[in-house]
Amino acid sequence: MIDLRSDTVTRPTDAMRAAMASAEVGDDVFGDDPTVLALEAHTSELLGKAAAVFVSSGTQSNLCGLLAHCGRGDEYIVGDHAHTYWYEAGGAAVLGSIQPQPVRMLDDGSLDLEHVAEVVKPDDPHFARSKLLTLENTHDGKVQTVARMHESAAFGRSRGLAMHLDGARLWNAAAALEVEPAELCAPFDSVSVCLSKGLGAPIGSVLVGSTELIQEARKWRKMLGGAMRQVGVLAAAGRHALDHHRERVVDDHANAAALAEGLGSIAGVEIQSVATNMIFAKLPVADDAAFMEATSARGLLMRTYNGGHTRMVTHLDVAAGDIDTIVSTLAEAINV
Ligand SMILES: *Cc1c(COP(=O)(O)O)cnc(C)c1O
Repeated sequence: MIDLRSDTVTRPTDAMRAAMASAEVGDDVFGDDPTVLALEAHTSELLGKAAAVFVSSGTQSNLCGLLAHCGRGDEYIVGDHAHTYWYEAGGAAVLGSIQPQPVRMLDDGSLDLEHVAEVVKPDDPHFARSKLLTLENTHDGKVQTVARMHESAAFGRSRGLAMHLDGARLWNAAAALEVEPAELCAPFDSVSVCLSKGLGAPIGSVLVGSTELIQEARKWRKMLGGAMRQVGVLAAAGRHALDHHRERVVDDHANAAALAEGLGSIAGVEIQSVATNMIFAKLPVADDAAFMEATSARGLLMRTYNGGHTRMVTHLDVAAGDIDTIVSTLAEAINV
């Protein structure tokens, strides 16, 4: 099976499983797991921050960050299609009594700063306290440059806001821009990165920031039930992913570009965007369920919705040699 639904579908490689099997472990709630401590130290260094905390997921990482920055009655300003607003079950509001204030996202995934300026609230009993501005890079695979990150952060700071970056796919952004990940993180107080997407670990995210902020985030992680015990087995997978899979994400980008080119040869396919490892397209498909059945019967897993709209994602388990197969399978399934 070739699976294009997401870059979260990767399976741990044999080498990753070997690293997990031989990991030294301890009780991480006691601070005794050397593999977790090493992963946290390595990631904070890689991202240019003082401290890091290993968490189960990107959702938990963002939530710990939001809870560390904001208290009851505060608000975070966030893109209206950002993961931290749209796809995290309203956690900040539900569990943190933090008001989300959505603002328009522009085509490149950055925020409309004029809209941000309009929603930042004065210190007045009528309003929630505007506390934090949250950005996302990459968004739908789209990359914001280091300059754009600095521009947005400078704007946020000029309005007295702290800065958080949801960098679930920061690795893809850094690779695409050919910059060090720390350069993209520099303007932010906290950054969340995922190890379980393009990097291919089975689980895990890391939240980085100042020592004080991460100390606070650790308390929230515990409260959320996310403090884990001999979790070095998972940190070992994450470390292996950072050491061995980070540089190869450019292969995923090349595969996505090649796939988009191939799709262009199928009549009726409209490509909406191609960026890093993601393609958004509209396929000439009327019946999504029948189409998905036709592709999966031919060894290709993908999702379409609203009559042929789709996101295709390349990753560790999609090889360059698979691209032609994907294109011919799609052409066949479209014509079923
Ligand atoms: C996937 C994703 C998350 C959340 O990660 P999970 O590990 O799935 O909880 C957060 N932000 C962005 C941009 C993501 O793509």
